Amino acid sequence: MDRALKILNKYFGYPSFRQGQYDIIDRILKGNNVFCIMPTGGGKSLCYQIPALMMEGTTLVISPLISLMKDQVDNLNNMGIRAEYINSTISLEKIKSTIRKARDGEVKLLYIAPERLENSYFCSLIKSLYISQVAVDEAHCVSQWGHDFRKSYTYIKPFISSLNITPVITAFTATATENVREDSIKLLGVNNPYIYLGGFNRDNLSINIHKEIEKLEFVKDYIRENQDESGIIYCATRKEVDGLYEYLRERGFYVSKYHGGIEDSLKQKYQEEFLFEKTNVMVATNAFGMGIDKSNIRYIIHFSMTKNLESYYQEIGRGGRDGELCSCHLLYNRNDIERQEFIINTSSSFERRAIELMKLSDMVKFCESDGCLRKFILAYFGDSNIREFCNNCSSCLNNHELYDYTIDSQKILSCIYRTREKVGISVLCDILRGVKGPKIVKNNLQDLSTFGIMKDYSNMYIKDMINALIEGGYLDKKPNTYSLLKLNDKSINILKGKEKVLLNIKENKASVVLDEDLFKKLRLLRKDISVRDNIKPYMVFSDATLIEITNTLPVTYEELKGVKGMGERKIINYGKLVLNIVKNHKLKLENEKKKQSN
Ligand code: ADP
Ligand code: MG
Repeated sequence: MDRALKILNKYFGYPSFRQGQYDIIDRILKGNNVFCIMPTGGGKSLCYQIPALMMEGTTLVISPLISLMKDQVDNLNNMGIRAEYINSTISLEKIKSTIRKARDGEVKLLYIAPERLENSYFCSLIKSLYISQVAVDEAHCVSQWGHDFRKSYTYIKPFISSLNITPVITAFTATATENVREDSIKLLGVNNPYIYLGGFNRDNLSINIHKEIEKLEFVKDYIRENQDESGIIYCATRKEVDGLYEYLRERGFYVSKYHGGIEDSLKQKYQEEFLFEKTNVMVATNAFGMGIDKSNIRYIIHFSMTKNLESYYQEIGRGGRDGELCSCHLLYNRNDIERQEFIINTSSSFERRAIELMKLSDMVKFCESDGCLRKFILAYFGDSNIREFCNNCSSCLNNHELYDYTIDSQKILSCIYRTREKVGISVLCDILRGVKGPKIVKNNLQDLSTFGIMKDYSNMYIKDMINALIEGGYLDKKPNTYSLLKLNDKSINILKGKEKVLLNIKENKASVVLDEDLFKKLRLLRKDISVRDNIKPYMVFSDATLIEITNTLPVTYEELKGVKGMGERKIINYGKLVLNIVKNHKLKLENEKKKQSN
């Protein structure tokens, strides 16, 4: 296991294993079959990738979505790991040469689409390899009880039995109720497995339900206020996707869309736009997302209720894979229920209908629930490790005690006063936090007495505060603007100390970015590298890595090595560029300081 840890450091740049990873890897290396249930973003891939690098021969990875296989393999190659993939887009010549390479020990991980196993010629080619591990990703796809059944998964078991040497079988999924789990183990032939049942909780997802609101207004305001962040908006039907897409485009939002009815080449184009961060918003049906490993999705909006909690939890699970905060917003109107019923009645087979309708009724209960939403979900999946309150979902926040936020409110309100109610929320946040953005310098706002009085607070916190003030009636939005604010009588009373502000505000789970300016520069660098090397931005660096660089300011290679996500290969390829930016930024700050003291 020492060697496993070294590999984790060297290739992935992570200092330690996450919960479960150590045990799972240890078992695999000892030759145990493994069935692993971990939430999306929990870190399942590492569990088979690290053993693959340590075992002899090749690990065969069966993964359901061909459009994403290339991504997964690119990502590994970018870390210096020898991986290849084979699916229906690859020519026979290339397949043969890949297999030759694997036979020569040049391929540690070979990704294949399950449909390949229906082809007996292909199976005979594969059999010539020394396969030490077969890793089945999204293992629940084999079970009809699950919600993503795929017939081709039923070919896996006979294929494995036909191999000359018995490999270790490892299977991974995020969604498995007990019957799906039992079924999958049986149907995949994972004999006597070590079963790892990870907790389902994802702390960094904040779960919010908004009942009976103006959905379009909400979406429009939300993406405007979060325009630098990536997000997904899930819709219930293709028609809804097209409608919302048009609506947003007409209003000048550059967004992408995705659903099963879009022609393949266009679908591919939209997906690439989003993954390469040419657009920041993806409007999609549930056809989008399985296997998407874009790690910096910062919000997920469900424009309509999903048809069950499995889908809901899987879809929000695509947010915040890097461990940083992702805000999830479910927009729930009662007439969504009828529509989902209609979809189920027209699209599910007769036998499945009863199951689906039952799941739908649980979903409605969830949406209507006053209790902790996280607790509801975890209980639904049979996770027993539940707190009464998570304080990170809309129910908890609505139920919980009120605290005295008078002083912070005064800071914000006085800044609105000083800027004569003329700046939007983002600029207001920048002023309070003492960030010198272009708008601020241009208008000499750095000279205001309120500049930097909330230096130690995160953007998120201040924004949450502002929203809470508005919701509490302590502050108004200016009509017909999207983020201008207006003081009211209550605001004046607070400023004069005549009234207290009692609120309950989201516990802030987000990492604080200490220097927004540097963070922006690093994001630009990431974009530049992405274009230069034709590789997706989040594969260059995760948000988490950039935040850590921003906050720790490494200036030597040694210091850079200590940053999470900076593996050996990344330090070689990008280290110099990062260090230059940090050094220059530091210099700039020092010069500014000197100027100020002169
Ligand atoms: P899953 O397949 O379970 O949804 P992934 O394997 O895609 O999750 O991992 C999610 C994210 O977590 C990836 O960005 C991955 O690099 C990161 N990650 C995995 N293991 C660790 C670890 N031990 N330390 C830090 N980050 C990790
Ligand atoms: Mg995965």
